[in-house]
Amino acid sequence: MTDETHRATGDGGPELAAVVAAGTVDVPDFPQPGIVFKDLMPLFADGKAFRRVVDGIVEHYGAGTFDVVAGVEARGFVVAAAVAYATGTGVVPVRKAGKLPRAAYSASYALEYGEATLEVHRDAFVAGQRVLVVDDVLATGGTAGAAIDLVEQAGGTLAGFTVLMELAFLKGRERLAPREVHALLTV
Ligand code: AMP
Repeated sequence: MTDETHRATGDGGPELAAVVAAGTVDVPDFPQPGIVFKDLMPLFADGKAFRRVVDGIVEHYGAGTFDVVAGVEARGFVVAAAVAYATGTGVVPVRKAGKLPRAAYSASYALEYGEATLEVHRDAFVAGQRVLVVDDVLATGGTAGAAIDLVEQAGGTLAGFTVLMELAFLKGRERLAPREVHALLTV
């Protein structure tokens, strides 16, 4: 167990935070110099750890508090699909520009590294449907803000926003306030 795993904290308690920390590899200078990329692939590949974090998200929100899960491309899809399966809900992909085949809403935003545009199908939600938005990492909050805006534009109601890991120094949580952020690990 590394020091970081020992001291792990997050909104789901120290044990869940430690599971996320243990499944993450820091990759310095990816995708560009100065960025430490948080690679969660080892967590996804570990069946026990993956189930534990998905269960942690489901336990936090409770059965019946959301109708559909929106996952942000691409790593958000992995978690969103598992949460949806575990709760008998559906998945809506929030995709990068140009990938959706039918009429879509778009939102552009600045990333920790670069710029991006996200899209969601205009008919993705039934009006008032309660949507849990899921991504892997919260950094500056630009991605999450755009995803939440798209959900609301398409008629959904935000039921929650959850990530496996939050990079607190980039203040994404503050940017998204007063919306609640649930992060299993805060670093
Ligand atoms: P942001 O919009 O700045 O909050 O960035 C969050 C989005 O970019 C998420 O979809 C993450 O997958 C990705 N991301 C940003 N920074 C990192 C990082 N340091 N490590 C891994 N993914 C990141």
